[in-house]
Amino acid sequence: MTLEQLDKQYGLQTYNRNYTNFVKGEGSILFTDKGEEYIDFASGIAVNSVGHNNPTLVEAIQNQVAKIIHISNLQIIEPQAKLAEKICTLANYDGAIFFANSGAEANEGAIKIARKYGETRFEKKRYKVITLEHSFHGRTITTVKATGQEVFHTPNFSPYPDGFSYVKGLEAVYENIDDETVAVMIELVQGEGGVQPFDKDEIQKLEKHLKEKDILLIVDEVQTGIYRTGKMLASNMYEIDPDIVTMAKGLGGGVPIGAVMTKHKDILVAGDHGSTFGGNYLSTRAGLAVLEVLSDLDEEGQLTETLAYFTVKLKEMASKYPNLFTEEVGLGLMRGLRAKDSETMKTVLSNCMKNKLIVLPAGKNTVRFLPALTITTSEIDEGFKRFEKAISSI
Ligand SMILES: *Cc1c(COP(=O)(O)O)cnc(C)c1O
Repeated sequence: MTLEQLDKQYGLQTYNRNYTNFVKGEGSILFTDKGEEYIDFASGIAVNSVGHNNPTLVEAIQNQVAKIIHISNLQIIEPQAKLAEKICTLANYDGAIFFANSGAEANEGAIKIARKYGETRFEKKRYKVITLEHSFHGRTITTVKATGQEVFHTPNFSPYPDGFSYVKGLEAVYENIDDETVAVMIELVQGEGGVQPFDKDEIQKLEKHLKEKDILLIVDEVQTGIYRTGKMLASNMYEIDPDIVTMAKGLGGGVPIGAVMTKHKDILVAGDHGSTFGGNYLSTRAGLAVLEVLSDLDEEGQLTETLAYFTVKLKEMASKYPNLFTEEVGLGLMRGLRAKDSETMKTVLSNCMKNKLIVLPAGKNTVRFLPALTITTSEIDEGFKRFEKAISSI
């Protein structure tokens, strides 16, 4: 059987897959089984933050797996404790961390913290969580309900848990708060929803309002976190101090990991939450290596240069092809070109693949760019050369 046949017979068909078989990666280049080279502007949906086959990450993982891969959270796990400290330090956040295995799980943890806060801190129970239209918070039954996109709320998986509502825009959050509201959960740049950043002043205004009302601000940094927008957290860029922050995608450089970080360290106690795999030696050692690489890039100013270089190229595409794109959106290396309609986006995506360049869709009509933060100028040049070739015929 071919790989495609194998997958179609034995894999549950929950994805519309492309069947190019990648067997090796180096930096931001991927090699197929036929030896063809693709430029990777997607980094596994913001996961391969330090690129493919990064020597620091590979060496750290190889050394770790030859010692201990996993032991269980009933024992102290050295790299887990060190990673928690490193994240708090780099994010300049006075809090503590619980490790999970994915973004959705990190958000589940955040919601559990908020719910217990609402149960134990007030005379009248608070439990409602407000989210935003076009948000994305995960695929578990609860996080799918928290996600502000009607397409995900199919009756196929109902009933969903109570206490979640999404509103249209930040202004509507204020009107929808009531005496049972415990938290507001937002992305600072909506990723899946279309690479849409919020205005800094408006976010700071919301933070202040929530603080006054003793309502928790949960910032879902699963996609924006780990230097994706140019700072350790987008919250650092927006200069806010959320009650809870979740992270995942870029943190393990490809090794599954999720994290929920909160300043309310005493809400959850022993027995309240747990995970078999969460924070094990493998994933947290990987996280340490990733942060070592990325904090160095940041301190050396290399990250700022890469962002600037990528931005120039992207703006050039937007201004040169107004027939295809209406605007250039996003922050840092979480970027998009808004195509004039969804058909255009689809054509751009398939043409890019034909020209051996991997980019992503977001929302209805956005071509999304999430390259590794270690991408080089020559990889950026080659990627945009292919991009222009892919779109110039449309
Ligand atoms: C990807 C994503 C998630 C879900 O993460 P998984 O690891 O797929 O569970 C949640 N929130 C945001 C903002 C994301 O981008």
